[in-house]
Amino acid sequence: MSAFEPVIGLEVHAQLMTRTKIFCGCAVSVGGEPNTRTCPVCLGMPGALPVLNAEVVRLAVRAGLGTGCAIQTTSVFARKNYFYPDLPKGYQITQADLPICLDGQLLLDDGKVARIQRIHLEEDAGKSIHGATGTRVDLNRAGTPLVEIVGHPDLRSADEAVAYLRALRGILVTLGVCDGNMEEGSLRCDANVSVRPIGSAVFGTRVEIKNMNSFRSVRDAIMFEVERQVGLITDGDRVRQETRLWNVDLARTESMRSKEEAADYRYFPDPDLPPLHLDPAWLDAQRADLPELPAARKARYERDLGLDLRTATWLTDEPPRADAFDQSVAGMPDLAAPFAVFLMTQVQAQLQRVERTWPELVDAMPVLLRICGKWRGGQLSNKMLADLLQTGFADLTQPLATALTGAESQAGAVLSDDAALEPVVDAILAQFPGEVAKYRAGQKQLTGFFVGQAMRQLAGKADAKVITALLARKLDV
Ligand SMILES: [Zn+2]
Repeated sequence: MSAFEPVIGLEVHAQLMTRTKIFCGCAVSVGGEPNTRTCPVCLGMPGALPVLNAEVVRLAVRAGLGTGCAIQTTSVFARKNYFYPDLPKGYQITQADLPICLDGQLLLDDGKVARIQRIHLEEDAGKSIHGATGTRVDLNRAGTPLVEIVGHPDLRSADEAVAYLRALRGILVTLGVCDGNMEEGSLRCDANVSVRPIGSAVFGTRVEIKNMNSFRSVRDAIMFEVERQVGLITDGDRVRQETRLWNVDLARTESMRSKEEAADYRYFPDPDLPPLHLDPAWLDAQRADLPELPAARKARYERDLGLDLRTATWLTDEPPRADAFDQSVAGMPDLAAPFAVFLMTQVQAQLQRVERTWPELVDAMPVLLRICGKWRGGQLSNKMLADLLQTGFADLTQPLATALTGAESQAGAVLSDDAALEPVVDAILAQFPGEVAKYRAGQKQLTGFFVGQAMRQLAGKADAKVITALLARKLDV
């Protein structure tokens, strides 16, 4: 294994967030009765003419600007010819020799720069639905606008491939280009994987892996495939160029078909669509309209707010979450880092327990910030915080912000004044004379035991710092 290195390049298809399809006025949406969102254009009727959706161009340009690409002022649509039951025209409209964006790059967490070769526009095909009585075709998806983002084979491990995909997804979601939902298929990733002896400058035979619909699948599929190829080579066999599918249930890649070459598709410029020309002034306006991108945001979190890389990455991975965080902590830079950690640990733990999603949480962010502030200020003990969050998250009858506010008022106040806590501490010391003697003989770590006993008596609703100070006063004499 160690004698070989993987060479990986990703091809990512992102569905653009438009209301209508790329070449007709049919609505783009998930679900709906089969074949109800169709018209002569997306059904591929002879003589029906495509008209390019301007919003599609704007979103593709944003994707290109966000990934540092050179936007091409002239690009050309081409026909990619192949037959498939869910492709009624017998060809897919895409861009071949002259795509809309060229030569970009992505900055990965480890500081590596991975190059992007091109971004081109294309239409999606329909869907074949295989059932017991045969296969049926639903063309609602036909003509859905996509960008395909083709990376150079710059990645050297499954983890790097995941980092690349995560960085790309963050940019596309931040720019409103794509919703980034891998499970629903609006962001789809294929991986070209080969292996070569370490030190070799020549690429090995590559295999394309399809059908990975989560970050985890991407990592597992690439790791499996690298090991499979190394095994073939060390056994004296050779890797066949082919397309393989990731079978998530059996955790293995499976042969699908031998790989086609570009020449098999007989690309030629689509005679129904004129070349796409972009006005440089319009492009400048698009460039000026870009928001802060995830890499810049992450750097700002580390530099200005003191977040560590892990927390900064976690926040930035979901742009709406980072937006809400930014709004909540505006003007409170001191609370920002602890609040980010609070979200990543305590709040995330609740989310794994209860059916709530991050979008729901975004509205509750100001309440969460207030609760975090009280906890850090000692007005809520650890136990009270845990109970409060548990109660608030479990109450699914009302919005999270309301539920948390209710749980917050029920939680009451922490006991922190000496007068209330001293009798409890005295009682504990009287109850455990043996431990008191051991403490005085030098076993100072028994402080934790006494604090624990006192907290149990007080049902966790006390300030542990005050109890610790009281203990020190009574024991260290
Ligand atoms: Zn249509």
